[in-house]
Amino acid sequence: MRITKTSDSRIDSVDFSNLPFGRVFSDHMLISQYKNGSWQEAQIIPYGNISMTPGSQVLHYGQSVFEGMKAFKTNNDEVLIFRKEMNYDRLNQSAKRLSIPSIPKKMFIDGLNELVSLDSKWCKKEEGYSLYLRPFIFASSECIKASASEEYTFIIITAPTKNYYPHAIDLVIEEHYSRAAKGGVGFAKAAGNYAASFYPTKQANAKGFTQVIWTDAATHKNIEESGTMNIWFRINDRLITPTTSDSILAGITRLSILQLANDLGIDVEERVVSVDEIIKAHNEGILKEVFGTGTAVTVAPVQSLTYRDVKMLIPEQSNSYAVKLKKMLQDIQKGRIKDSYKWTTKVVSKAYNC
Ligand SMILES: *Cc1c(COP(=O)(O)O)cnc(C)c1O
Repeated sequence: MRITKTSDSRIDSVDFSNLPFGRVFSDHMLISQYKNGSWQEAQIIPYGNISMTPGSQVLHYGQSVFEGMKAFKTNNDEVLIFRKEMNYDRLNQSAKRLSIPSIPKKMFIDGLNELVSLDSKWCKKEEGYSLYLRPFIFASSECIKASASEEYTFIIITAPTKNYYPHAIDLVIEEHYSRAAKGGVGFAKAAGNYAASFYPTKQANAKGFTQVIWTDAATHKNIEESGTMNIWFRINDRLITPTTSDSILAGITRLSILQLANDLGIDVEERVVSVDEIIKAHNEGILKEVFGTGTAVTVAPVQSLTYRDVKMLIPEQSNSYAVKLKKMLQDIQKGRIKDSYKWTTKVVSKAYNC
């Protein structure tokens, strides 16, 4: 791996107390090109513009996938990356569905390690901070034939972040638009899934909602997920989340929360969740909590759920599962408690040629 360090770090010009999500990037990025049937050696270079032709296939057909993951700094100034092997596997699952060649494991893991190590100053150890890691791949052949590209570009950029939603959120159940269909690409982090979600989300935002809750495309009777979060319901003391399928993104936070809930002795169920049963549970007063999970938000409590014209308020629980699970997950991510499952790995530079 070739590493070219910047001679001009931008870090001193960044106001870390006022970080807008996803708009500030660290000093370096990793880049590799796929040409003539193989990925070229990855390079780490200063973060900056890339040049591309207007004939780049991704600009026309959206053949592109991405990942979202985080690194955290402990009180001992070690940097931990959370479950990176799972993000690696998921990136390649997404890539496969979009007919994009898979990324070699060494390139991804070693590349991420060097990149995060080089920009570790951008990862703050104060509470609520993390370094968001964004690997992505796009079709870069100069060709506007509607077919899979022959060339691709893989890039990893990183962005310092602070907590995402500061308050409990308001969701609305979507019955007209769909995020994903059976046989489609909903399980993949395919760029176009997000492009298609912006219009319905903007309409919901205009009515005061933070996000929509996506229902199944065929009947709109079953709940799938919300925005870019998996969704959870606490009915009485049982925690329920929809079973993943090809129309639901299988979150790594979701999987982690399932494990931690089990460890806490919470009664957890993965199954189909219908809109009707959630409304019924609310009417009976047994819908105690709703929350979303995802890398960006960790655990986001929901304060209201709207179905057609009815706004269901979810009162704050004194003995909240969301609060407990969030704390446990963050304690592992920040290296404050024992990481029994080895979810985190310490960033150690192996670079010799920089
Ligand atoms: C990324 C994402 C999630 C959450 O996945 P994590 O691995 O927990 O970050 C959930 N739903 C959608 C649609 C997503 O894109």
